[in-house]
Amino acid sequence: MTQTRTLLVDDPILARSPFGPSHPFRAERGALTRALLEDCGALRDDDVAGVDEIDERLLTAVHDPAYLDALVRAGRGKPVDDARYYGLGTGDCPIVPGMHEVALRVGEATVSAAELVANGSARRVLHLTGGLHHAHRSRASGFCLINDLALAIEHLTRRRGLRVAYVDVDAHHGDGVQAAFWEREDVLTVSVHQSGRTLFPGSGFEDEIGEGAGRGYCVNLPLDPFTDDAGYLAAFDALVPAAVASFRPDVLVLQAGADAHWRDPLTQLGLSGDGLEAVFARVIAIAERCCDGRMIATGGGGYDAWRTVPRAWARLWGRLAERELPDVLPESWRRTWGERLGVRLPTHLSEATLPDLDSLTTERAASHALAIARRVATRASPLWRASD
Ligand SMILES: [Zn+2]
Repeated sequence: MTQTRTLLVDDPILARSPFGPSHPFRAERGALTRALLEDCGALRDDDVAGVDEIDERLLTAVHDPAYLDALVRAGRGKPVDDARYYGLGTGDCPIVPGMHEVALRVGEATVSAAELVANGSARRVLHLTGGLHHAHRSRASGFCLINDLALAIEHLTRRRGLRVAYVDVDAHHGDGVQAAFWEREDVLTVSVHQSGRTLFPGSGFEDEIGEGAGRGYCVNLPLDPFTDDAGYLAAFDALVPAAVASFRPDVLVLQAGADAHWRDPLTQLGLSGDGLEAVFARVIAIAERCCDGRMIATGGGGYDAWRTVPRAWARLWGRLAERELPDVLPESWRRTWGERLGVRLPTHLSEATLPDLDSLTTERAASHALAIARRVATRASPLWRASD
């Protein structure tokens, strides 16, 4: 019998920020979302699973031992030779005491999520503080120290013998995950993001398709600024479902960053809350069609941390666990967390204000997105078929 259970992976360490309170990467987003779901009655105690440790061999399959050593030394306050070489001590990844403990726990949590799906304990598992897709083998980057997604995918493929389709809908290109599996034919990476011409990390162009055995197993859909719901979804539909279906994965991994929302202060895409939910729903539907629904999902970016992120990720959990959420958000959540964070939290799940985008700009962005999606699909589909 197929397990239909959906779980949330969480651990007390994950509520800690690796970079301190003044950094834009707000670790409280996970706890804020979890509290919202609990106060809505959409998350119960038995929906939550703990985190298991991972062994050194898995860590060093994804990260250079010298980088891991530098990260641990930095987190323990010891001097690190060539910290900048490893991307540590930068504006994006400042050195903060204990950062390595949080980063490793995030990695362990996403691997735990993957194992719960691999061993049949659950069909869908969510880890809200994961999704650190910019971390590279030997380098921290873009608020990401340990690539939890690459660890989970490595676990699913090399240890569990499963084929993994990775779908990244964060507004930024999933460069670290792409690089980790660039030459691998057992992992398909798909990233839909604001173009590297206008946004960090400056990569993810349509001609990046993988190399060697991995040629064709890397798909990028770069979008112009101000691409709105309609433009995004049409381009997504023209490319992503067919790419994943032809790959025939055993498990799907979703990086569900919430920074493609129009209110995000670091990016310029134009999705609404409904648009983000529609994207998440499409990815869940793809997993249903292609791999019996087996998937893990993580959070990721999202810098409109108090208004947009908890609502977007609550909607993601609602879709994954098939739980209804009320439109009026609980007063208990708004009061408790509003006081704790010193912010005004939203009153409703739905958004009263929609993006005020110029229609000529959005139409141009939409037709550009669709043209790229069709070009990438046309160019890549012979490679996908060759794997049959
Ligand atoms: Zn992002």
